[in-house]
Amino acid sequence: MKKIWIGTNWKMTKTIEEGIQFTKGLREISEAVTSNLQLFIIPSHTSLVPIKPLTTAANIYLGAQNMHWEDSGPYTGEISPRMLAEIGIDMIELGHSERRQYFNENDEAINKKVHAALNYSIKPLVCIGENIDQKKQQISKETLAAQLKVCLQNLSEEQAKEVLIAYEPVWAIGEQGIPADASYVAEIHDFLRNTLEGLFAEVGSEIPILFGGSVNHDNFLDYIELENVNGLFIGRAAWNIESFQVILQQLDSHLASNVSPIL
Ligand code: PEP
Repeated sequence: MKKIWIGTNWKMTKTIEEGIQFTKGLREISEAVTSNLQLFIIPSHTSLVPIKPLTTAANIYLGAQNMHWEDSGPYTGEISPRMLAEIGIDMIELGHSERRQYFNENDEAINKKVHAALNYSIKPLVCIGENIDQKKQQISKETLAAQLKVCLQNLSEEQAKEVLIAYEPVWAIGEQGIPADASYVAEIHDFLRNTLEGLFAEVGSEIPILFGGSVNHDNFLDYIELENVNGLFIGRAAWNIESFQVILQQLDSHLASNVSPIL
């Protein structure tokens, strides 16, 4: 059975203590999971060190929300892959739309970070997504293809195998977000799969593509059933452990009782 990736980026929401309580709760939930779910959490940098032992014990992947591409240097306020590797994080979220919108992160910078992460055996979770204007102008696919191509530039097949993609349409994210129709998500994920296969002939079919943006209790099953949706990247609906638990338990029973569609 293929792995299904389910995780959450806490953004700038939780203190260390709140993060520890959440992770302890998630650890209990993870012990009851019977399907092939790979859980992950992406806390703020301050919480990574105290939370690390809790995730290791529970087989929950731990990620960071951003990093610089250099190992060290005069980059005030930044954190390096070498520092994150020292903590033992498993993955790094790169290119979230908020990083692109508020901190001018672009595909070229993300590409440097992808290479830096892989040099330290940290899995890059590369976020891509079109904004509402691009969608209205009907250039979503061109936009996404360009993002994929530049963010993953100069990766070998072996390196590409370690990458995860999160498709998060910017217009679907956050409080103002409009949940995407499952048919639209299916069309875009199929397109992303084809694009990845074009870029990486050997491993393009295996790179997990997660979906994110206003995923909630009412729509998560519609998305996860789609052929090329290999996981969910959830914000608000997963920040409260009881709310996340409802999703995880339903998903776990759904996957455990309905194995064939995701093979
Ligand atoms: C996000 O910001 O990446 C996200 C998926 O958030 P939400 O689920 O809250 O829309």
